[in-house]
Amino acid sequence: MRKPVIAGNWKLYKTTDEAVALINGLIPLVKKAKGVEIVVAPVFTVLGKVKSAISDSPIKLAAQNCFWEEEGAFTGEVAPKMLVDAGCSHVIIGHSERRQYFAETDGTVNRKIKAALKAGMTGIFCIGETLAERDAGKTWEVLDRQLTGGLAEIPAKSLEALIVAYEPVWAIGTGKTATDDQAQEAHAFIRGALAKLYSRQVAETTRILYGGSVKPENIKGLMAMADIDGALVGGASLKADSFAAIVNYQE
Ligand code: PEP
Repeated sequence: MRKPVIAGNWKLYKTTDEAVALINGLIPLVKKAKGVEIVVAPVFTVLGKVKSAISDSPIKLAAQNCFWEEEGAFTGEVAPKMLVDAGCSHVIIGHSERRQYFAETDGTVNRKIKAALKAGMTGIFCIGETLAERDAGKTWEVLDRQLTGGLAEIPAKSLEALIVAYEPVWAIGTGKTATDDQAQEAHAFIRGALAKLYSRQVAETTRILYGGSVKPENIKGLMAMADIDGALVGGASLKADSFAAIVNYQE
């Protein structure tokens, strides 16, 4: 009942020509993918071009970040309604790189989620512990804090437009994937926390993606886990063949 989502985070990569080449290479390779939602998140500057390229395909467009205000004197920011205007249906919020390098907190993540939902977007809400936090036995405390803070004052109804991405920071871009069991354990914890914050029904219907060095070689094992509903893919989404192999994991 939870449709799997495979989302590609292109991070700070790809100029216009490179982005267009990547998406045009990807489209034919995922043409036959059934029962899976495909999302790509390029940099802001190429959203329009990528949107034109995917217009006849089921691939959906995401931004990698948004601001919480609708407009105003906020130089350098982009509002959710402007992302919708550029063709985005989804937006990644609270990625660990934004928390680490751009001082995002659970509070700012919460404001961004609310703004994205208000604009009618689907938020991909990222949470995950660092290696130091895992080693200190604080994984559950951190996930609980990020979930509670990020979702503060967000009503149960809005969770329909929210996807949670569990991304252990120690697995992002490091080549170290969480084992299938480690990932499943965290996903089950997150689903349990959603049940406590909202209800069993909300917990059972919310999609929880795993992110952290997902590759064609490990996607099958991860997707076989009961509480893993898809993947947020960084490095392996930058090449059409590896991202397509992840999307087509059921073949
Ligand atoms: C990410 O950017 O969200 C990510 C999981 O990156 P990678 O797949 O490269 O670890």
